[in-house]
Formats: sequence, structure tokens, C-alpha cells
Amino acid sequence: MAEGDTDIPADHPRHDSLVTRHRIEAGVEAGITSRQGLIAEGRGEAFDYLLGERTLPSADAAARAAAAHLLLARHPVVSVNGNAAALVPDELVALADAVGADLEVNLFNRTDERMRAIATHLREHGAGEVKGLDADARVPGLDHARARVDADGIADADVVLVPLEDGDRAAALSDLGKVELVIDLNPLSRSAQVADVPVVDNILRAVPNVTAHARELANADRPELERIAAEFDAATALDDAERAIRAGEL
Ligand code: ATP
Repeated sequence: MAEGDTDIPADHPRHDSLVTRHRIEAGVEAGITSRQGLIAEGRGEAFDYLLGERTLPSADAAARAAAAHLLLARHPVVSVNGNAAALVPDELVALADAVGADLEVNLFNRTDERMRAIATHLREHGAGEVKGLDADARVPGLDHARARVDADGIADADVVLVPLEDGDRAAALSDLGKVELVIDLNPLSRSAQVADVPVVDNILRAVPNVTAHARELANADRPELERIAAEFDAATALDDAERAIRAGEL
């Protein structure tokens, strides 16, 4: 638990949402998270409530498939925005280490100040090199500010993990032919819908879960990893999340 989270008992019925609110608030105060990030958080929280604040078996299967893709990748990149950096900095660094991925800061509301604040924040949580500051390449199909990525980062990646990505950018990355792994609590969001692997789960649970699967699969051979990746079906996972929401077993 990060500083400031400790006063929330682990068995509190709304534990994850309270931890999330605390961290996002602190992120805004530290200049890491934008104020729009608060709105994105609210939307995610509503879906987490409807999903019962738990990891569905289909989301666990997605996390395993995501881990397999990251391990198979030539150049995996974990994209980090202001909400992700505020919520799970240690966990993102651990995931990048576990799968040999680059971390790249990628912001919807990009300012140089916030880019630098997030890169510093990630380094304070153990990251080595943090990409995204060069912004010397573009993702086609997006306006200038939203399109900027690093030539030796996301532009070169074959597999990209984008937690809480906005729909336009998720679609543009997927159009580039990259394998796109998305973490998003809303199974109806465009990001989840265009993902090769949508992990419909709270980033608080999803990132450590992908890392745990990656560690478990560290010695698996390529055919085994390819089988896990191929057996995952995105449409079935999204249907399952939607059904769980409609069933409403809170
Ligand atoms: P779309 O993909 O439909 O275009 P959007 O661009 O409007 O969505 P945002 O408003 O930027 O999306 O919201 C970000 C997304 O992140 C939402 O779909 C929300 O459910 C999701 N989200 C927010 N907080 C979390 C969280 N803690 N864990 C996982 N997903 C989250």
C-alpha cells in the first residue's frame, strides 16, 4: 500500500474504490494526473461497482493472455498515463521488469511539465529509462498533440499495453497493426472493443495480475505462450463482462 492508503481497512466493502480515489487525488495534487483524470476515474469506479470489485475469471484469462503476448513480443512497451502513474507506479515498474518492456509516458492532455513529473515519479518508484519525452514519431490518424510517441518506443513496439487509453488512440494504435493489450473496466468502451486483449478489470488488480502470470510463464516455451495467446477470445471475454454487469450479483 502506498502512503495515505493505510487507514482504509482491507475488508472495507468499498476498499478498492477508496484507495483509488485517494491515489488519484494525490496524483492531481502532485501534478501527475490531470483534472480530466478525475472524471475517467469516476467512470471506472462505476463499472468496478457493477462488476462487484472483483476479477472475473474471464479477466484473469485475459491477464494471462496479455502476459503471454508481452513475453512473446520482440519489443513490448507499457504505455503510462496520469491515472496509471498515480494508481500503480510500483506495479507498472514490476511488470515492465518481469517482461522486459519499456515504459513510455503517453498523455491525452500532454504538457511537458506533466510528462516530466510522471517520468520522475516512475523513476522514484524504481524505473530505469522512461520513454515518451523525445516524442520524435507520430501515430497516423491522430491530431498532432495526441499522436506524439517515441520512435524507439511505442512507434517501434510490436506489443503495447495501454491501461485506461482513450478510444481514439486505442483505435489508431490497433490500426497500426500492433498487438494491443488494454486494461479498462468498461467492456463497452472503444478501447476495450478494439483491443486484441481487453482486460476488463481495475488497473489496481490487473497490473499485478499480469505480472504474476508473466512470472509464472517465465520458463514456458514459445509454442505454449502462443497457445495461451491464441486461445484467448476477446469477444467472448467482453460478452462475459457485460453479462456479469447485467446479472448484478453485488
Ligand atoms: P472510449 O474508449 O469509449 O472512447 P473514453 O476515451 O471516453 O472512452 P475516458 O473517459 O478517458 O475514456 O476513460 C478512461 C477509461 O478508463 C474508461 O473507460 C474507464 O472505465 C476506465 N477506467 C477508469 N479508471 C479505471 C481503473 N482504475 N481501472 C481500469 N479502468 C479504468
